[in-house]
Amino acid sequence: MPYCPKCGYEYNQNVEKCPDCDEQLVDSPPLPDDSDESNDADEGELVLFYATPDMVQMEMLKGALENEDITVLVKRGTGVHAQFGALLPGSHNLFKMWVTDKNLQKALEIKEQVIGSEEE
Ligand SMILES: [Zn+2]
Repeated sequence: MPYCPKCGYEYNQNVEKCPDCDEQLVDSPPLPDDSDESNDADEGELVLFYATPDMVQMEMLKGALENEDITVLVKRGTGVHAQFGALLPGSHNLFKMWVTDKNLQKALEIKEQVIGSEEE
């Protein structure tokens, strides 16, 4: 079935243009807006830079980052990011922290100051 790439409306096979948007129809529906992970994506790509099961540590780090005007997105691990979950056992109890890629270097430096290097 053809779909309008703009409004996502599904049309009959014999329709070629969306009458509302004046857009050429395409074969597959437009991708759903995956705004879940990318609310602040206009500032750059969000990258996962730290994950910890320790809420106090997470709060400390978040506070330090925000003091430096670094926007940080914190999510509790849910297994949505299977690629990270696979690397981090017990990801259900992890607080994962994302920053935009342009802030990554600074964020890592702050992390080193606040938390130090990774401990076993
Ligand atoms: Zn349309």
